[in-house]
Amino acid sequence: MPEGSVTELVLSRIRDIPDFPKPGVLFKDFTPLLADGEAFAAVIHDVAGRYAGQVDVVVGIEARGFIIGAAVAHHLGIGFVPVRKSGKLPGPSLREEYTLEYGSAVLEMHESALQPGQRVLVADDVLATGGTVAATCRLVERAGATVTGIDVVLELTFLGGREKVGDRPLYAIAPL
Ligand code: AMP
Repeated sequence: MPEGSVTELVLSRIRDIPDFPKPGVLFKDFTPLLADGEAFAAVIHDVAGRYAGQVDVVVGIEARGFIIGAAVAHHLGIGFVPVRKSGKLPGPSLREEYTLEYGSAVLEMHESALQPGQRVLVADDVLATGGTVAATCRLVERAGATVTGIDVVLELTFLGGREKVGDRPLYAIAPL
């Protein structure tokens, strides 16, 4: 890893919290990264630079994907669309169920949020098992739009989430 790289910066600003939200999970807390204005700006600049002129809209996943995604959309001067947990969006929505370690969950997106043919960047903080990002990509594609890129700050490679994402382009600033 080159000294002074964004990857190195990210790794220096992520805090490991053992056994959160439940025993056995090592939670990757990126609030120290957000609290450091220079580091936050460097990450947003890095993500935005990969997609300038190549995407029409950013889709961010609740909740930490909103922080990255909205900042990147603002930086690029394009729109932002939230993908939310079940029951939070007020208008008619598309729904996608996905499996968790125990049980399942549902993500939703307003059905009129994307236009067919739009090129979409999907943003989130962590790719773990990949279920959340894969369900989000299905929502985007059901709306007739294209996933041009998926960008995450951290990828927990040992969980194999990349497989669920299939052949959609995925970039992680810090693969662990
Ligand atoms: P997954 O669907 O397993 O890829 O989980 C991804 C979602 O859960 C992301 O929105 C992350 O914010 C969150 N997540 C999963 N595992 C972790 C972890 N170890 N640390 C922080 N966030 C996590």
